[in-house]
Amino acid sequence: MPLDFLKRKPSGETAAEAASAPPARGPVLMPEEVVAQDFQLKLYYAGKTSEGVRMQTGAGAMDDLPSMLTGLAKTEIEIVEPLPIEFSQATPTIARPSEAMQWLNAHHVHSPITRHALVVLESIDAVDLAFDTFACTLLDGEIDTSGYPEYNAIVGGVAAHWDEATGDMICRAVVGWGGRGVRGDTDRIGAKLLGGILTNILANQHALGLTAVERPMPAAGRGGLVCAHCGFASAHERAFYCPKCGMRLVRG
Ligand SMILES: [Zn+2]
Repeated sequence: MPLDFLKRKPSGETAAEAASAPPARGPVLMPEEVVAQDFQLKLYYAGKTSEGVRMQTGAGAMDDLPSMLTGLAKTEIEIVEPLPIEFSQATPTIARPSEAMQWLNAHHVHSPITRHALVVLESIDAVDLAFDTFACTLLDGEIDTSGYPEYNAIVGGVAAHWDEATGDMICRAVVGWGGRGVRGDTDRIGAKLLGGILTNILANQHALGLTAVERPMPAAGRGGLVCAHCGFASAHERAFYCPKCGMRLVRG
């Protein structure tokens, strides 16, 4: 019978059994060296934006954005519009459920390529959908079987916003890439693509020339205005011009 008892534990105790067993052999000694298993995930996001190009604007100025990606877009071009006030906290950070839900609600309609681009470019602060309109596509590289760009694929396009000082539309080229990996030549290809997009923007018939990009600055007390022209309630508390239609916001 003692032999049968021994057979039930053929290869020693498990850690759980050892922990729950009474300390029959005196105190357990701390080993001199802790044997650790290391875990690590390195995410690498990168991107570039160009100088701005001031555009002569009129009705339908935003309609020209896709044409600025002619010859460079490898997939369908999607337009991401500025986010309205109900999405003002939207961020692609899953550990913050309220912000993540807003982000998903705002962007689940977009393609995997655009969602990937927004995760990368918003994470590195290269686009800000509080005031940017973003024409987005795959520019280089491959997508996986689910349609998401590989880590070395380059996404991006044209971001446009309305200059707070003049009300002019400012366009800039934007590229980004990243994920679980990095390749040495991606930066160089990205820089080349950035130049290609900027060339296209400058070739647009409404382009007036290069300009410094100044992000819309705070205008005290002007937050929360609803555009009288298009009804857009901006998530950008500092908006002086409507981020969606570019018309001047009026207090009403
Ligand atoms: Zn408007």
